[in-house]
Amino acid sequence: MRMRNDDGRPARREAGAGRPERGRTGRPGRRDPIPAVIPACPASVCPATKKCGGCRYIEMPYPEQLRKKQSEMQALFGSLCKVYPIAGMEHPLYYRNKVHAVFGYHKGQIISGIYEENTHHIVPIDRCMIEDQKSDEIIVTIRELLKSFKIRTYDEDTGYGLLRHVLVRRAFATGEIMVVLVTRSPVFPSKNHFVAALRERHPEITTIIQNMNDRDTSMVLGDREHVLYGKGYIEDILCGCRFRISAKSFYQVNPVQAERLYTKALELAGLSGRETVLDAYCGIGTIGIIAANRARQVYGVELNPDAVRDAICNAKINGIRNVRFYQNDATRFMTQMAQNGDTVDVVLMDPPRSGSTEEFIHAVKVVRTKKVIYISCGPDTLARDLKVFRREGYRTEGVWPYDMFPATGHTEVIAELQRENR
Ligand code: SAH
Repeated sequence: MRMRNDDGRPARREAGAGRPERGRTGRPGRRDPIPAVIPACPASVCPATKKCGGCRYIEMPYPEQLRKKQSEMQALFGSLCKVYPIAGMEHPLYYRNKVHAVFGYHKGQIISGIYEENTHHIVPIDRCMIEDQKSDEIIVTIRELLKSFKIRTYDEDTGYGLLRHVLVRRAFATGEIMVVLVTRSPVFPSKNHFVAALRERHPEITTIIQNMNDRDTSMVLGDREHVLYGKGYIEDILCGCRFRISAKSFYQVNPVQAERLYTKALELAGLSGRETVLDAYCGIGTIGIIAANRARQVYGVELNPDAVRDAICNAKINGIRNVRFYQNDATRFMTQMAQNGDTVDVVLMDPPRSGSTEEFIHAVKVVRTKKVIYISCGPDTLARDLKVFRREGYRTEGVWPYDMFPATGHTEVIAELQRENR
C-alpha cells in the first residue's frame, strides 16, 4: 500500500524519499554546498533505500539522472515538438519541504517511516537524503516523546492506538514550520503537555495541528482538524509573493525548482497586461497571483476548499485585486464558461498527475483561448492531453522539463501550446 496526500498527489515516497544526516537548519545544502556534479551516493548512506524505493536514483550520479530524464522526455514528446534541456538543481539533496511519516510498532518498539511498496509493513526511516533535515529531526523527536508520554501509535489490525501519521511542512524562505499530528480519534490525552514538550525541543515550530482520520483509506489526512498551537498555517515566499499554506492545501514540494518553473511558465505566457487569464487547478493561487500584475483579470479554479480559502487570503496578503478564485471542478467550471459565451485569452493549467479531461480541453477552444501553458507532474498524462489539444486545433510549441524531484524517477514539465489560425 502506498500513501497518498490529501491533494491526490502521492505522499513523499512516490515523489521522492530516502534519508540521512540531520541537525542542520539552513536551506537544503546551504551550509554544506554539494558540488554541482555530485557523485553517486553509496547505498550505505541510507540503509532503507532499497526497501523504501522513494529515491530510486540516489546511487546514480546526478548528471546521469538528468540524462536519463532528458531521454525519457525526448521519447515522449520528441515527435510532437522541441524538447528543451532539463533544468537540474545545483544542490539536488534535502530539497523536500514536506515530510510524511507513518507510525507503528515493530517488536514492541515505536517506529516511524514509510510503507514498503504494496504492503502495510513500515520501513523505519530516521533521515532521508532528499527531505528537509529539520523536518526529519522533528519526526524523530515526536517518536521519542510518544514513548515518554505513553501515547500508543495506531494499529491497523486491532484498531487500537492514537497516532497514525505525522506531516511536517517547512517554508524555506520564512523558516516557518507546521507539524500535523494525524490521530485516529479526537481524544488526545495530555495533548497540552505533549505540545509544550515538542515546542520546548523545537522552538522553531510555528504551528501544530491535530488532524482526525478514522477512515481506512490510503489518504493521510482526514477532514477534521484542530489547531493545537499557532495560527494553523505557514507562510512562504515564492517569486516575490507571500503565500499562506494550510495543512490540506497543495504546495510544491521543491520550492527552489518551483520558483524557476513558475518564472519560466510566466515568461512563456508572454502576458502584456491586457489579457484575461485562467489559472486552472490553482491550489493556493500561486501561479495566478504571480501572473496578476501582468494581466487584466485572473480567474482561479480549484476543487479543494481549504486551498481556495488560502488562495483568497493570498490575493489579499499580496494586495492583488484583479484575481477571483472559485471552488469548483475545473472541467465543470470551464464548461460553464464555454456555455456562458465567456472568453479567456491565456490558460495556465497545472492539474494533478492524472491530468486534465477532454471536456476541459474542448472548452478551452470554445472560450477562444489563444495560448495554453500546461504544467504537469505526470508527463504520460501530459502527452495524452497534448494529443487532445492537437485535435482541438492547438500546436505544442515546446516542452521544458524541470528536475523537481531529484533522485526519483519523476519529472515536471511545462508545455506551451498555441492555437492554430484556422
Ligand atoms: N497550481 C498549484 C497547484 C497544483 S497541484 C500550484 O502550483 O501550487 C494540482 C491542484 O489541482 C491541487 O491543488 C488539487 O487540489 C487540484 N485539483 C485536483 N483535481 C481537481 C479538479 N478536478 N478540479 C479542480 N482542481 C483540482
